[in-house]
Amino acid sequence: MSKRDYYEVLGVDKSATEVEIKRAYRRLAVKYHPDKNPGDKEAEEKFKEAAEAYAVLSDAQKRNRYDRFGHSGMGGAGGSGFDPGFTNIEDIFDLFGFGDMFGGSARRSNVQRGADLRYDLEITLEEAATGKDAKIEIPRLETCDECEGKGTAEGSSPETCVTCNGSGQTRYQQGFFSVMRTCPNCSGKGQIIKDPCKKCSGAGRNEKKKTLEVKIPAGVETGSRLRIGGEGESGVNGGMTGDLYVFIHVAEHETFERQGSNLYTSAPISFTQAALGADIKVKTLDGEEDLKIPAGTQTGTVFRIKNQGMPSLGGRGKGDLFVAVTLVTPKTLSREQRKLLEQLAEIEDIDFEEEGFMDKVRNIFG
Ligand SMILES: [Zn+2]
Ligand SMILES: [Zn+2]
Repeated sequence: MSKRDYYEVLGVDKSATEVEIKRAYRRLAVKYHPDKNPGDKEAEEKFKEAAEAYAVLSDAQKRNRYDRFGHSGMGGAGGSGFDPGFTNIEDIFDLFGFGDMFGGSARRSNVQRGADLRYDLEITLEEAATGKDAKIEIPRLETCDECEGKGTAEGSSPETCVTCNGSGQTRYQQGFFSVMRTCPNCSGKGQIIKDPCKKCSGAGRNEKKKTLEVKIPAGVETGSRLRIGGEGESGVNGGMTGDLYVFIHVAEHETFERQGSNLYTSAPISFTQAALGADIKVKTLDGEEDLKIPAGTQTGTVFRIKNQGMPSLGGRGKGDLFVAVTLVTPKTLSREQRKLLEQLAEIEDIDFEEEGFMDKVRNIFG
């Protein structure tokens, strides 16, 4: 594999000054930084390539040797075993004194964003219709107030890991290659806590219950998810706090069934109401509505009451309430009722064939 010319890698002239080389490298380091290109192998290679080029061209002696002999002047078997001496990203940034430029503090490998949390909240259909200010209590990891997240007991401080010299990584040689791996002594933290904080046992975070007020908007339904930014778990070593997700479950209602923003219910009517027509009251989510039953209404007929459904989540309009009426046959009759019904029966003259009832019956049993 042929190596690219170091000047070409940095995109500078052979006559470039020290300042120009530094500036060119810094630009590439920012562009191909692994933090900005997670999982991108090509960017990682470019990042390493630029680091290698910079290590040589920033050193007057090495640069002089490179100018005269090219890659073969850089030692090793044609330079294949080249080790710029600081393959660790942090070392490169420490070299420049701009280790903080990506927003992290201290050593970046330790900085962790806090976990997102999920909270399942059950509400009633009425609450879903009006919206609700809910108080919820969530257990979560928060920065320890005793040690302010440092994990060390008061008066002590973490010691630099002797195995990795604080870099969090150890280097070993495998054939031509210098391989980096996470330091087994400090698990990559770069520091060892010998005297841990009693309150958090050195973790820097404690589980705490926190009460939060959550505004549930009107119109939510089962599966609605509310994101509350910054209310998840605390980050580690100055990492960002995670988010809280509230998952809504709307409980089943004994009277209403919901489909989107529409509600469905049923209302009982008597034979006389169905036959003669009537004004009845229908239960709605927040009260009652009048419903006119026209004379000759069949059981199962569905009426629609406008705007008595659920509000839509965006706050635009409301769904409707659909009412299926059910004809209820009386189970007991007073003497007088019975007499009147018997009289009715004598003069009753319904042609079921003509009314289409027989077709319905056939459908039921067919
Ligand atoms: Zn603590
Ligand atoms: Zn270590």
